Amino acid sequence: MDNEMTLSFIAKSDNESLARMAIMSFISQLDPTVDELSELKTIISEAVSNAIIHGYEEDGKSVVTVRATLIGDTVQVSIQDYGKGIGDVAQAMEPLFTTKAALERSGMGFTIMESFADELVVQSVEGEGTSVTFTK
Ligand code: ATP
Ligand code: MG
Repeated sequence: MDNEMTLSFIAKSDNESLARMAIMSFISQLDPTVDELSELKTIISEAVSNAIIHGYEEDGKSVVTVRATLIGDTVQVSIQDYGKGIGDVAQAMEPLFTTKAALERSGMGFTIMESFADELVVQSVEGEGTSVTFTK
């Protein structure tokens, strides 16, 4: 079944669960297993929290957009922010790399996303924003 959805919300941590629930509900059309759902939920949480916390410093006004497309029995999800961007994407994706160690971040977000997604692409331009696109 082919289908598509887009959800936009402001950069508040409260909205992380909104994004997660919307995508979970949308995905249910595919009859995913409990494991697949839980992995998807984790990827979305990690990517959305990164957009809110790192992209926008939780400014409560800038917009994060989550877009999901169902093609056959796979889903492609894209999480986009127009915030601060990442200078060195390869370095940011290394396990344990974080720029917010003081806030008790573990620097494992991208590593977890990569391990659960079938394919994950991060595009970012410093000062312009970041998109994380994955399929599962
Ligand atoms: P954790 O996810 O374990 O709480 P973390 O968020 O620091 O810690 P990652 O999710 O792996 O770890 O991200 C690594 C680093 O990449 C972040 O510390 C941040 O510097 C940068 N980063 C990630 N996403 C974004 C984004 N959307 N905008 C700007 N910088 C980002
Ligand atoms: Mg993170």
